[in-house]
Amino acid sequence: MFSLDEVRDEILGALPAPVAALVPRAEAVGLALAEAIAADEPVPPFANTAMDGYALRAADTEGASDDTPVRLRMVGELAAGHAPTLPVGPGEAIRIMTGAPIPEGADAIVMVERTARDGDDAVLVRASAGVGDHVRGAGGDVAAGQEVFAAGTVLAPAHLGVLASLGVEQVRVFRRLRVGVMSTGDELREGPVALAPGQIRDSNRPMLLALVAEAGCLAVDLGIGHDDEAFVQRAIENAVATCDAVITSGGVSVGDYDVVKAVLDRMGALRWWQVAIKPAKPLAFARLRETPVFGLPGNPVSSHVSFELFARPALRKMMGHAACSRPTVDAVADAPLPRRPDGKTHFDRVRVRYEDGRYFVVRSGAQASNALAAMADADGLAILPDGDGCDTGDSLRVMLLR
Ligand code: AMP
Ligand code: MG
Repeated sequence: MFSLDEVRDEILGALPAPVAALVPRAEAVGLALAEAIAADEPVPPFANTAMDGYALRAADTEGASDDTPVRLRMVGELAAGHAPTLPVGPGEAIRIMTGAPIPEGADAIVMVERTARDGDDAVLVRASAGVGDHVRGAGGDVAAGQEVFAAGTVLAPAHLGVLASLGVEQVRVFRRLRVGVMSTGDELREGPVALAPGQIRDSNRPMLLALVAEAGCLAVDLGIGHDDEAFVQRAIENAVATCDAVITSGGVSVGDYDVVKAVLDRMGALRWWQVAIKPAKPLAFARLRETPVFGLPGNPVSSHVSFELFARPALRKMMGHAACSRPTVDAVADAPLPRRPDGKTHFDRVRVRYEDGRYFVVRSGAQASNALAAMADADGLAILPDGDGCDTGDSLRVMLLR
């Protein structure tokens, strides 16, 4: 058996480099910047008011209070989206709405709640203002010329908002990968069909397609492959010609019909390991025309865990992400997690609770490699080194899945 780290290191060392491309901003969410972004313009582009109220000269409001309001002449009104037409002179105020530019001459805003109208053309100000009160300066959020985001930043929705505020319509990012997903197995069916004896429904492909999408890639459905070497070989050849990476499930173990393993071997590119982990011991990997192919095991929990441990970090590395693996944290066992020594690291499916600064875990259900319901119920994978497992209160490491 090979250790998890040596297998993962070999895979991560055998991947094509990320490819940079200029993409429309809206398509860049979840992608890593291939170069830093500098601001060509300030945000906000002009000084404006943070409040609905009155633009005025702070000096005019000295000593103003509820009991001793100051009366100013109201010389105009200004809404967001309009340029000021009048300056504010001494003893004057302009009614102003949030987002409107600060008129010339004004140096402060008094919020409307601290004022009262006094007829059509005057306002009583009931609070004294300081210079700059409620004024958002030009460039206060982002200054012109400033580097806003460093190379490598993974763009989240708020980044897209900032880019839009700067007028950046396209960004150079590491391209989103097209990742093909294929199930293999003569027993597999899909859709609303009645199952004949010996048949099961294909659960891996919908799950892996969703995992691929969740990892930030474009998932390409390659359907179900029969347990037939010629069929699977054609399918893999087509897949590597059109995808940046290919993920298969099933057919990589030591059974008589383990066609994925046989086909990758025949295509001259097979790397195959028995990894010292449970679940997900067998793993096949190949690079065909530079395209990595991940042959994940067929048992659904094994497929999921194998994706998490090998495929996901690889796909994210190929997209230029610095953080490729899920976070792992220290946790405390809320209930025993017994296991037997078998030379493997176990990844038990657990529910994770966070309380008073600590994580606590319990198994989420049955731990068999086909027990997908417990995987679905899990928030994390408890990492149990070879040995007898954990008792209640023991500390352990947990990989957080969400
Ligand atoms: P294999 O790795 O092909 O030997 O499959 C191991 C086990 O996983 C068998 O019980 C298969 O029926 C099951 N299996 C394989 N592929 C799938 C799939 N796509 N969906 C659900 N179960 C599967
Ligand atoms: Mg099979």
